[in-house]
Amino acid sequence: MLLHVGIDDTDSEKGMCTTYVGAVTIDRLKKQGIELIDCPKLIRLNPLWKHKTRGNCAISFTTDVSKNQIQKVKKIVLEGVEELAELNVKSTTPGVTFYQGERIPEKLRLFSKKVVQDVVTIEEAEKLADEIGAEIHKFGIGRGIIGALAAIGHPLEDDWTFELIAHRVKENWGTPRRVDEESVREMDEKTYPQTFDNLDPEAGEIHITPHTPCPILYGIRGETPEDVFEAQQIVKAEEPIERTILYKTNQGTDEHLKPAKIREAKPYHSIIIKGKVIKEPETITGGHVIFTIQDETGKADCAAYEPTRQFRDIVKQLEVEDIIKVYGGIKEKPELPLTINLEKLEIIELTSTKKKINPTCKKCGKRMKSAGKNKGYVCKKCKITLPEEAAEIIETPRKIKPGLHEVPTRARRHLAKPLIRVKSAERKY
Ligand code: ATP
Repeated sequence: MLLHVGIDDTDSEKGMCTTYVGAVTIDRLKKQGIELIDCPKLIRLNPLWKHKTRGNCAISFTTDVSKNQIQKVKKIVLEGVEELAELNVKSTTPGVTFYQGERIPEKLRLFSKKVVQDVVTIEEAEKLADEIGAEIHKFGIGRGIIGALAAIGHPLEDDWTFELIAHRVKENWGTPRRVDEESVREMDEKTYPQTFDNLDPEAGEIHITPHTPCPILYGIRGETPEDVFEAQQIVKAEEPIERTILYKTNQGTDEHLKPAKIREAKPYHSIIIKGKVIKEPETITGGHVIFTIQDETGKADCAAYEPTRQFRDIVKQLEVEDIIKVYGGIKEKPELPLTINLEKLEIIELTSTKKKINPTCKKCGKRMKSAGKNKGYVCKKCKITLPEEAAEIIETPRKIKPGLHEVPTRARRHLAKPLIRVKSAERKY
């Protein structure tokens, strides 16, 4: 029979990572002869959620076990979490969930979607577990049961990617990571776009090594297991690797984003809104660029923050009346209007920049003056007048073009779908 296991909320800012707890547990199960069905899942949850430690991820996996193996699996998992989770940190409140069954209930799938796109309570998770007969284990207040259930419930069936994670040996946790940067560049050159978001080409930064004290040495993101394994062959680690694990994931899929109207937008939601620019971009202290859009239901500020670097150069060229779609998350902010933290910008229609200017005098070649409202133009020196229709029309060409623009890799959320993936998907149809 199938036993699904979900784990979340095992880490703190000081260390650990749920991907590691998953990897250790799975290896321990394998040593006991318990194999997994399919790839373990790494599910990124609501990227704006205030209680996340870092990337808001939870993991799950499925085993095919006989009745008398069930208790053994549960024991190994629970002991693993107890041993590895940062239980001494108050804000770390792990949750472990078990669900036995051949099919994932629809209610659990819907819950999973909600945890990625919205906010749920621990009580909601408990009620659901009760309804579907899932077993929950809470450590402390056990907020982790939310992510643990969501990870089991996620079908990863519309779009998905893979991440191959290498974990460090314990002695090296918290020390600078030693990975040959040149080899990462070579890997990117040889395998992009089948692997993606592993390097920020503009900043020249490698993006596979985290900057936190967690056990991850590197994570390589790609389209298929073959792609990430091929890439791993090229990356040279200059320190020992304790173990590696391949996760199937919703990273790079834009699953967090939902089309919405401004009136429906709320803090903690990530949305796609079509609107018209009504206040031109302004650069404020810190280098952040802010402008305002409007749709038929309201107004919202949009922000391209400093870390989005060159993306701001596109944003700065927007003009009032441009029709755009903004993709991004809404920050918690007490006052209105809401601010959308931009992840992508789609330019749909650029307003014309045609302007009327005074004609030049045919005799002296100087620009004529207005003779008064709707009274045409006059050159005082040559005493020549021209009617209103003689105005010249000039058009300043727009440098930006309709289409999608994205923030650079370094500023991208784990869930954000890189444009290269959007384009590859379009090519398939
Ligand atoms: P890591 O990625 O290293 O595992 P993290 O960033 O995932 O760390 P957690 O320590 O897991 O952060 O904390 C997030 C907590 O919030 C978890 O307990 C999870 O169950 C819960 N949670 C996640 N998303 C939501 C949501 N949308 N609504 C309510 N609770 C959530």
